[in-house]
Amino acid sequence: MRCPLAIASQRHVLCIFPAYTPSFGTFSHAYWLLGRVRAFMPPQGLLLIAAYLPASWPVRFIDENIARTSAADFRWADVVLVSGMHIQAPQIHDIAQRAKAAGKTTVLGGASVSGAPELYPEFDYLHIGEIGDATDRLIACLDDSLTPPPEQIRFETKERLPLPSFPLPAYDLIQLDRYLIGSLQFSSGCPYRCEFCDIPALYGRQPRLKTPEQIIAELDAMLAQPGHPSVVYFVDDNFIGNRKAAREILPHLINWQRKHRYPLQFACEATLNLAKQGEVLSLMREAQFLTVFVGIETPDADALKAMRKEHNAALPMMEAIRTLNRYGLEVTSGIILGLDTDTSDSEGRLKAFIDLSGIPILTINLLQALPRTPLWDRLKRDGRLIADGAGLESNVQFLRPYDEVVAGWRRCIAHAYDPERLFARFAHQVDATYANRMDVPARGKLTARNLREAAVLGFNIVLWVGILSDYRRPFWRAAWHALSRGQIDAALGMGLVAYHLIQFSREALRGEQNASFYSTHGRPAMAYPLEGMPALDSQP
Ligand code: SF4
Repeated sequence: MRCPLAIASQRHVLCIFPAYTPSFGTFSHAYWLLGRVRAFMPPQGLLLIAAYLPASWPVRFIDENIARTSAADFRWADVVLVSGMHIQAPQIHDIAQRAKAAGKTTVLGGASVSGAPELYPEFDYLHIGEIGDATDRLIACLDDSLTPPPEQIRFETKERLPLPSFPLPAYDLIQLDRYLIGSLQFSSGCPYRCEFCDIPALYGRQPRLKTPEQIIAELDAMLAQPGHPSVVYFVDDNFIGNRKAAREILPHLINWQRKHRYPLQFACEATLNLAKQGEVLSLMREAQFLTVFVGIETPDADALKAMRKEHNAALPMMEAIRTLNRYGLEVTSGIILGLDTDTSDSEGRLKAFIDLSGIPILTINLLQALPRTPLWDRLKRDGRLIADGAGLESNVQFLRPYDEVVAGWRRCIAHAYDPERLFARFAHQVDATYANRMDVPARGKLTARNLREAAVLGFNIVLWVGILSDYRRPFWRAAWHALSRGQIDAALGMGLVAYHLIQFSREALRGEQNASFYSTHGRPAMAYPLEGMPALDSQP
């Protein structure tokens, strides 16, 4: 649904999504290998708000991961509406400055301001929380007057818009073919209470759901755009936060895939206890879920208990990973270093876990305390929060010496993304995971455009990874292993992903990248348009 208010004025609304700081999980270094891609995934929150605005208000949408907002865009606008996460804080401030210089009224919403509104005193209006009564009050206020208020006004959602009333995100305002993957939200909220996570405080512990009809309508809208990405990521905080709902939506996805001859593949985020849900896993395999991001965080069971993430230990960890692999799901994993429970042995145990698990993609970050989390409260009580601006990689005063923690992070990155080890893990996936995926007719994907893009990617991978890189030998070993089993997609995919991971890890080792993805003082964005992108976040 759109905003139900009776509107008296017309407002030109410029929605701007800030650039991301580079991270492991975004593959930003590899976009050019694909030709057209410039950004990781469409920003669901801002697209939702854009669709909810009054129908009579013209809306423009700029994703600064793709193109910088022009002076003409600012001139066109009456109101500039920004949304972002903590990692985008420097870019959010920068947009506010440009909008103010252009004399525009500014509004900020999204996850970062909802967690820490005090970080953004320069905006005229703050929208705190999810879409709901605050959104209506903000719209009414903008309709009434465009004059910036003398003091910042905060609108905080008390009553959320129910998910079944969410409008179709404004996909018509963006070019899907510029994104590496598509995004889709089925549910919001997570029933767990991991100490470091702000999801329960921001989005609630009772997962709320869209209807199957909404999900199908969104898939149809994506499919209607030429050149849409072939992978769609369910951005839900935890896809199995409500297991019954996950079981019920999957048959709809399967039917849709069959009807359209399997044009898409899916990915999602879920807790590791997904491995206990045999029925859900079978359905996910049938629906073409190929990847699941799991916040494994640490292989240490005591550390999981301390961070209140015991649900990760519901099954022996390796057994759970193998189970997901048997259903054709490649696991990608979030890992946190700098935990209070870390000892001098933790680094060795993590490296052994990386090798043994065979997980190719791991986002390895230093612990960061986010506002509105139990971790933040505990560290504040203990006087262990470090103020922004200290120039450190984290806002947590670690129990172990800071230099040792950061040096350990560097050694773990170097270990994980040593090309020999990385491609060995990909080779492991060929038999452990990719061979277990369901064979489906490829007709839904056999468009002239897809074939042309596959040819571009194939050429670039062979040239830049297979011939010119210093890791061509381990690449070809893993790629031949896949090709000999008929897995052409897998051979190309591992070349693409490894190209980013190896380059990013080398930058990180040279000190050019952050050690904490969640930091609110991330490094400034790099040059446009090949901007840094968001990591697959380390939540579930
Ligand atoms: S870390 Fe994941 S499982 Fe834990 S509360 Fe956050 S979203 Fe839920």
